[in-house]
Amino acid sequence: MSTEIAEILQRGADGGRITTEEALLLYTEAPFHELGEAADAVRRRRYPEGIVTYLIDRNINYTNVCVTACKFCAFYRAPKHKEGWSHDLDEILRRCAEAIDLGATQVMLQGGHHPEFGVEYYEELFGAVKREFPQLAIHSIGPSEIGHMAKVSEVSIEEAIKRIKAAGLDSIAGAGAEMLPERPRKALAPLKESGERWCEIMEVAHGLGLESTATMMMGTGETNAERIEHLRMIRDVHDKTGGFRAFIPWTYQPENNHLKGRTQATTVEYLRMLATARLYFNEIAHLQSSWLTTGKAAGQVSLHMGVDDLGSIMLEENVISSAGARHRSNLHGLIDMIRSAGRVPAHRNTLYEHLSVHWTPEDDPTDERVRSHVSSIALPLVEST
Ligand code: SF4
Repeated sequence: MSTEIAEILQRGADGGRITTEEALLLYTEAPFHELGEAADAVRRRRYPEGIVTYLIDRNINYTNVCVTACKFCAFYRAPKHKEGWSHDLDEILRRCAEAIDLGATQVMLQGGHHPEFGVEYYEELFGAVKREFPQLAIHSIGPSEIGHMAKVSEVSIEEAIKRIKAAGLDSIAGAGAEMLPERPRKALAPLKESGERWCEIMEVAHGLGLESTATMMMGTGETNAERIEHLRMIRDVHDKTGGFRAFIPWTYQPENNHLKGRTQATTVEYLRMLATARLYFNEIAHLQSSWLTTGKAAGQVSLHMGVDDLGSIMLEENVISSAGARHRSNLHGLIDMIRSAGRVPAHRNTLYEHLSVHWTPEDDPTDERVRSHVSSIALPLVEST
């Protein structure tokens, strides 16, 4: 290992700031184990008790109708397509009630850019969920949906955000980031807002008191430099607002869409990205890995690359399942993944507060019904190994 890389790793591990150029150097050239060790040192300093959190939530899709036609998306249907659907409010509330019965503390309401869904639609949706289930955190949508609804209703971004926040939206999920740099974003989603616009909308939302998570989709032909540029764009927003609670990268799933045949990011690339992000995002509190797209084995290794959160059991997920993600787990499996990696599992809420810490197996929850599900549009399940 070069002296330069050793010095950057040490500085990152000690909590110092690393530059974007240094992040690229670490991502592409740092020895794998040393990179993971430095990232894990950051995790240990932040979370010295070794706690790794998980969440119980449900992704509820209100519509698959979408005018944006992203090339990687296997979920959407164009307006007037015979397979297009929208769920009515009663169905969404029924799914929320079911989720609460299984211990969910959060719903992620996600959907396409329906040509008729403006701010009023989201006010009604969030308002109804909040009135009926005030105990559920609504952690939903992203800058793309906000931009779309503002356009449909012909109001400013600021007004759209104020109104949906007043209606009950608690925080922004930050999906739709995919790849923020211009070249890969145009290739993937030419009709979506630019990466710069994504960042601007996040900045406005954070300024109005709506915090969020930030995501990344790897593996559609972007370069290493573009991956790191994505991190830079997110860090620039966070430097101004402090509004990102977590960074959540995942790997592109290649089935049933227009990008078929592109290479997925390898597991090693994914793990290197997690470790680099942990070192680069010194100020962002949490790092979540996606066992849903990479599988339980990679999920477990990620806990040694700086990750402190394994995300959700996902009582329902349809979007990335439609594109080929088939990994599923029950709650015991998820807890076991954490404990057998030498960490302490803890059930958290949307704010990352611990609801219960499972110090020993005797503390584990016992509800066998809590497991990942997919709806009728998703692919057949296989248990992950
Ligand atoms: S990713 Fe979202 S915006 Fe893009 S086509 Fe799919 S549903 Fe529409």
